[in-house]
Amino acid sequence: MPDWKDQPVVIVGGGIGGLSAALALERKGIPSQVVEQAPEFKEIGAGIQLGPNVFRMFEVLGLTAAINALAVFPNNLIMLDSVTGEEVTRIPLGDAFRKRFTYPYALIHRADLHRVLLAACQKSPLVRLDAAQKIVTVDDAADGIVAHTESGKEYRGAALIGADGLWSTIRQMVVGDGKPNVAGHITYRAVLPTSEMPEQWRWRDMVLWAGEKVHLVHYPLRTGELFNLVAVFHSNRYEEGWDSYGDPTELHERFAKTCEPVRTLLNKIESWRMWVLCDRPPIKDWSKDRITLLGDAAHPMLQYLAQGAGMSIEDSVCLADRVVAANGDYAAAFRAYQQARYLRTGRVQIMARVYGEFYHAAGVAKELRNMMLSSRSAEDAMAGMAWLYGEQKELTRSTAAIGSRPAPA
Ligand SMILES: Cc1cc2nc3c(=O)[nH]c(=O)nc-3n(C[C@H](O)[C@H](O)[C@H](O)COP(=O)(O)OP(=O)(O)OC[C@H]3O[C@@H](n4cnc5c(N)ncnc54)[C@H](O)[C@@H]3O)c2cc1C
Repeated sequence: MPDWKDQPVVIVGGGIGGLSAALALERKGIPSQVVEQAPEFKEIGAGIQLGPNVFRMFEVLGLTAAINALAVFPNNLIMLDSVTGEEVTRIPLGDAFRKRFTYPYALIHRADLHRVLLAACQKSPLVRLDAAQKIVTVDDAADGIVAHTESGKEYRGAALIGADGLWSTIRQMVVGDGKPNVAGHITYRAVLPTSEMPEQWRWRDMVLWAGEKVHLVHYPLRTGELFNLVAVFHSNRYEEGWDSYGDPTELHERFAKTCEPVRTLLNKIESWRMWVLCDRPPIKDWSKDRITLLGDAAHPMLQYLAQGAGMSIEDSVCLADRVVAANGDYAAAFRAYQQARYLRTGRVQIMARVYGEFYHAAGVAKELRNMMLSSRSAEDAMAGMAWLYGEQKELTRSTAAIGSRPAPA
């Protein structure tokens, strides 16, 4: 007698979200077929930050040791004023932080995180991985779904997950809400060998220099071999997509009012890669029968809470749980999954916008920000982060309420 677990779930997109979904399903004995349009399964980009909430998911996925071997565990989250150079706030990430949230805060190269996920998928006979195949249409047939590629290939499965990112094709079939919002913020990113980072700034911390319509972030990567630099500024320029080369002239113009250390750090970089930041307002319905969305395809967000990848990993664990709970009734499982996730991911989408404004504040808003943050105790700061980093009831079948602030990202 056929079992519902005999048929694979087709996952469109082999980024952090798609591979996490494959792995979360695999842990429940559910097979999947991941289809990636790029010629190979690979991540570009630079560093990403991982909060304790993501480590909680690594534990479920059996990835903790592999991630620990590659991550840097910073001592503090530090915000400095990029005009005066003064320290605004510092949140220690040592014993008290770990005691409060059970898991650590870490910094990792995006490619390393992706490689850990890929290696775990490659080890499993339940995960099939096909690169160089772009899904263009999906049919929801009586006995399952059929996904068609640009080159005429077909993938059949019991259900389909669109983990195809910000510019998701599957979202247009399920939600049909057009292009994402261009935030008017541009990010330039670079990774330096540590030897090229000025010695006085080789801190084992996540450092954010908050400015007026600009900010700069730097932190160590790959057990300290590299430094990640991220410069963000408001701009009207718009280019669809991401990861093109950034013109440094505009960057230097936008940061002209910042203090000498910030300008020195920016001058260290010859070659920047540029991202035009986009997001969408939250929605609560991102599934249609046996098709659902996950990660940036479902809830694209600005990077200011450093949680987009983290949310896609949480989505994956939640989704696999709901599939098992619904005993293979994918339409019911996907409804339960989105119900469990939309308030949390919506809250992160909204709060990421708020934090973008907060980091880029000028005038009275900036004075107020500096006053509020500098008068906070470490305990106050951690209490404010609990909604994001603390244990998530919605991952055990509940939802959370909107509340207060996390660490600078
Ligand atoms: C500057 C910046 C900094 C960030 N920092 C952090 C951070 O510190 N912490 C954090 O958690 N998050 C961070 N994020 C967010 C994070 O990068 C994203 O949320 C995350 O990568 C989303 O993963 P995803 O798998 O949903 O989408 P993606 O990574 O976009 O993957 C989608 C995949 O689908 C493939 N695909 C697309 N269409 C098709 C198709 N039709 N057929 C087949 N394949 C297809 C694509 O090629 C791609 O491989 C940051 C983002 C930015 C821009």
